[in-house]
Amino acid sequence: MDEKNCSVACNIVSKSYVDLGCQALARRTKLIKTLLSQQRLPLKGWDEATIELFLNNIALMDSNNFLDKVGMGEREGRVANGLVLHRHFRLSHGIGRSGELSAEQPKAAGSSLLMKLTNCLVRDSLRIAGLLDVGLVLTVPLATGMTITMTLLAIRNLNPKARYVIWPRVDQKTCLKCIIAAGFQPEVISMKLMGDQLVTDVEAIDKAVSRLGVDAIACVLTTTSCFAPRAPDDVVAVGKLCRQLNVAHVINNAYGIQSAAISSLITSAWRKGRVDAVISSTDKNYMVPVGGAIVYAPQSRTELVEQVDKLYPGRASMSPLLDLSITLLHLGVSGWEKALVKRENLYKIALNSLKSCSNVLGERVLAVSENPISMAMTVDSLSGSKKGATFLGSMLFSRSAFGARVIIQGKRQEVSGIHFDGYGASYDEYPHAYITVAAAIGMDNDEIDDFIQRLLSCIREIKGDSAESSDKTS
Ligand SMILES: *Cc1c(COP(=O)(O)O)cnc(C)c1O
Repeated sequence: MDEKNCSVACNIVSKSYVDLGCQALARRTKLIKTLLSQQRLPLKGWDEATIELFLNNIALMDSNNFLDKVGMGEREGRVANGLVLHRHFRLSHGIGRSGELSAEQPKAAGSSLLMKLTNCLVRDSLRIAGLLDVGLVLTVPLATGMTITMTLLAIRNLNPKARYVIWPRVDQKTCLKCIIAAGFQPEVISMKLMGDQLVTDVEAIDKAVSRLGVDAIACVLTTTSCFAPRAPDDVVAVGKLCRQLNVAHVINNAYGIQSAAISSLITSAWRKGRVDAVISSTDKNYMVPVGGAIVYAPQSRTELVEQVDKLYPGRASMSPLLDLSITLLHLGVSGWEKALVKRENLYKIALNSLKSCSNVLGERVLAVSENPISMAMTVDSLSGSKKGATFLGSMLFSRSAFGARVIIQGKRQEVSGIHFDGYGASYDEYPHAYITVAAAIGMDNDEIDDFIQRLLSCIREIKGDSAESSDKTS
């Protein structure tokens, strides 16, 4: 109902009542107008009714919902089932055209508008998280690994002679597979052990570039969100090196947006050195279902992200963008800030809980001061027992305590044809067996206590069991 319709409604219901209702409508319309004119996160999150009103308006601007439409084409956004239609808020045209991902769809003004707004809202959320001077943001309906692959393929387009991706080791299969999928050869750089912590060997990267030759290198691919005891890569030093050597630098920041420390590290990296693109997951940072990622670049260097946009073949699903825009409108500035602050506090609480737990068990929390999300506790006392540390992981899992990783020493594994020693630890010979947990956005304080209790009882049970079995054997 717009103002004109409200005044017609006065013929039916008393004007004073209609005026009140009309004002209520106007408040919501004004929220939408502010969003369209500022293209920023609303200060206060929207209620669901306003989000629905907005999405309804958006959908009715797309041709598949036009009242008198007739379509004789093969892609008219037809949907057979009502549940499916409603799951998508009647948006069925997707985004992009065969030209590029961020291109406007002539048949879908609403979807095109929502796609552009989503990227603006994401940029604003990055600023609030501490990622400053962002120049270009692209939300892509592919998860993190595939988006890194797309980014590497875009590099190939710009630099057809490149063959190698220089990659400081991180033991997560996707991180390596995304390089292989793009048809590049990974040049694995070992981490350096400093105390308990694994840090980037910048000198080794420099040497690898000299050895392979600048022209043969697609980029250095660093990782800023990773499992302790690996620290985020020193992206500032790598950025400076890449600027000096004229080599591209791509950062896998899968779940680092949620950390103020990592966000500020990346801002420094592109202020002081070279960063061509950063890739982050939508589900790990924004609490939406798996399916999307964002790729972004600093104002000073947007060419690669523009290439990703242009390289994308065909149209793309709107769903991950829809989930993200709904979530960001729901959070608003205040909700997003609150979620970020809560996580920073959770990290301290989780670390303290883990320390108490380690004291009880005679273990210790590894000193990994630079990793602001993941933490690790040794489980060396389990390595000798019959069931051992390996059993701990499956035991926790069977008790619905998820997210912990147990890393035992000496695991050898091949990933995409490359052999790794000490797999899981991101290091050939890490001197401890340990368990990692993370303080991640969206977690609750209660979950930490409960988790640590289950962890304690599992470890005690294993130790009790092994003490019993060694009694029997002796
Ligand atoms: C989660 C994660 C990935 C893989 O992300 P997908 O979204 O599953 O593709 C890659 N690298 C790191 C560091 C991750 O944490």
